[in-house]
Amino acid sequence: MSGLSVRHYFPWCRVKVTSQNVNAQPRSALVRIEPDERYRPICHECGQPARTVHSTTRRFIRDLNFADTTMMLQVEYRKIWCDHCGGVRVEQLEFADTSQRLTHRLAAYAAELCRKGLSVAAVADHLDLDPKTVKAIDKAALQAEFGETRYGDLRRLAIDEIALKKGQKDYMTVVLDYDTGRVVWMGEGHGAATLDRFFGEMPPEVRAGIEAVAIDMWEAYIKSIKQWCPNAKIVFDLFHVVHAFNEVIDQIRNEEYRNADGDARSTLKGSKYLFLKNWGNLAEDQQIRLNEILVMNERLNTLYWLKDLLRHIWSYHRPGWAGKMIDEWCSVARQDGHPKLVRFARRLDYFRYGILNHCQYPMHTSRIEGVNNKIKVIKRVGYGYHDSEYFALKVKQALPGRPESN
Ligand SMILES: [Zn+2]
Repeated sequence: MSGLSVRHYFPWCRVKVTSQNVNAQPRSALVRIEPDERYRPICHECGQPARTVHSTTRRFIRDLNFADTTMMLQVEYRKIWCDHCGGVRVEQLEFADTSQRLTHRLAAYAAELCRKGLSVAAVADHLDLDPKTVKAIDKAALQAEFGETRYGDLRRLAIDEIALKKGQKDYMTVVLDYDTGRVVWMGEGHGAATLDRFFGEMPPEVRAGIEAVAIDMWEAYIKSIKQWCPNAKIVFDLFHVVHAFNEVIDQIRNEEYRNADGDARSTLKGSKYLFLKNWGNLAEDQQIRLNEILVMNERLNTLYWLKDLLRHIWSYHRPGWAGKMIDEWCSVARQDGHPKLVRFARRLDYFRYGILNHCQYPMHTSRIEGVNNKIKVIKRVGYGYHDSEYFALKVKQALPGRPESN
């Protein structure tokens, strides 16, 4: 008989490996684990040793695979009378929770795979586990690490909304520590009440330390920030404004297309992305085509020029100059006279304070945009469609921030 032993792979206290059966087809092994009678059982509830064994019971528990073999443990464990708790309890096992059907090390492996970015479905499939089990494991691991809101010394925030499902009015609010890139908090909804919950739980001294908050031109957020952090400067970030203006461009471009005929119509056909992309990102033939359109259509030429001018407003360091540029922008828009353009100019003028605040707090739009894109990727992998709490934990995990600020 060989001196090789499997017991090194089960290095657990208070139990002993008593036998193993290996099946060839499909490859599987059943390892029998029994209490080591030299030790007194420990109560699962209170952790105290128990003197009286009530009965012995058995459970099948999945373990990590061994080589190409699926590993199943047949675990015998004791029910005890605990003097300390004053009742019948099960004994504490080091390697598994007897209410679960898998070992701690298998659960840790599943959580690690989820952490690496695999979807719950992929991990469940890979380990031959129930997706519900995998999700519960991952969620519990995340909750332990990210469940509590860490405020730290927040100074600048960026707050944004994210749509959970495309085309549905199902939103979450994301609060980012702008200085480190860490997602601090996520909550359901995108109204003032959502943000009120966040600020309401925030310690007053942290609230008082908030200097600036970057947001979209969105009244609900403005209202909440003004109420809770009256000293914080509200900054409207370029990303959202450009996004909103791109929609205006697209609507007007569509109108122009519908009203055009002949050659003009065919030139405008399918030109949406020529307007949305930045000039530098267009291929040479696309630049030539866009130029043709701009020469041909005065209104679209004005719109394109305004789009460029919009970016310039955010490049100023002095509020005086930025203010002049806003005036210039609005004046050109009003001259054109298209109602959608005039309405956008009115909005820009109304929210001018938050654009001018950008001079003092130049919060770069690329960071907010980067976070937005990262969250979209997490959404695509398939987390959180039914469980916004789990989704929020996944986002916090993916965006833990850098330790040092800049
Ligand atoms: Zn007890």
